[in-house]
Amino acid sequence: MPQKDMRLVNPPKDMEGVLSPAAGEYALTGGGDLSYRCGGCKSRLIRDVAHSDVCGAFSAVKCPKCGRFNDLPPEDHHHHHH
Ligand SMILES: [Zn+2]
Repeated sequence: MPQKDMRLVNPPKDMEGVLSPAAGEYALTGGGDLSYRCGGCKSRLIRDVAHSDVCGAFSAVKCPKCGRFNDLPPEDHHHHHH
């Protein structure tokens, strides 16, 4: 089960599209085999998703533990289908 670290980003100007899970909860879960951790404190933010679950699903994820904003790592931004 691959686990990836997300990439810390600056707080978005527009909070629409930002996921901010409660402490101890995940921003997204699904039926895939990818997990993502906060790029700052390494808390797991997204669990068991497929690439298609996260691609374009949010603009950023706010970590409930350290309060920093995360985006997908660059290698997961290769192709966007909107
Ligand atoms: Zn964090």
